[in-house]
Amino acid sequence: VNVKAEEKTYTIGTDLTFAPFEYQNSSGTYIGIDVDLINAIAKDQGFKVDLKPLGFDSAVQAVQSNQADGMVAGMSITEERKKSFDFSDPYFDSGISMAVKEGNNSIKSYDDLKGKTVAAKVGTESATFLEKNQKKYGYTIKNFDDATGLYKSLENGETVAIFDDYPVLGYAITNGQALQLVGEKETGSAYGFAVKKGQNQELLEKFNAGLKNLKASGEYDKIINKYISTGK
Ligand code: GLN
Repeated sequence: VNVKAEEKTYTIGTDLTFAPFEYQNSSGTYIGIDVDLINAIAKDQGFKVDLKPLGFDSAVQAVQSNQADGMVAGMSITEERKKSFDFSDPYFDSGISMAVKEGNNSIKSYDDLKGKTVAAKVGTESATFLEKNQKKYGYTIKNFDDATGLYKSLENGETVAIFDDYPVLGYAITNGQALQLVGEKETGSAYGFAVKKGQNQELLEKFNAGLKNLKASGEYDKIINKYISTGK
């Protein structure tokens, strides 16, 4: 009897809310660029995905403790992370930016942050950026576990500025969140799919092969354009 080989299921960690890369629609289903991408790659490469929206830092921990096989979470490919992760080919260029509450015109540059409280999400490139520049600009840092707390902190005056990836801030503004970006964006690293260093190499290879196929077929562009309007 010929039985079709069972498709392997991989547990993939992701962020809780990082629109337009991963977020819930009105019926609670996870959607977004990362979600569509991993599902399309899984289909192309013949594996199944058990997506776990854990939060960014928790996904990092899950991969490192072997509770997840990999993570897709708008995760920047950094030299520091390469010590504990292996990354796929880059799939999206990004960078970080500062945002303040809409109408707050008193913060015009990092120099205006002296003595003020600023925030980012735990374990992110933005959090690292804030730590690195704290002495220089003299602000206090507050780190949040998830985007909900982070974005709320601006509204309730807990912080004067938040730092996040600019496509995510841009998406929030496009969707009516009362924010405004300040200054030039910081060049950041591109996003990559990640596995624990030295492990799940076959999954990494499948991701790269699938990504290549999606780019060649036009499906990759379709996914991006579904979430980020080019106005064309
Ligand atoms: N790109 C940023 C990082 O890798 C933020 C990722 C996220 O918040 N999901 O640190």
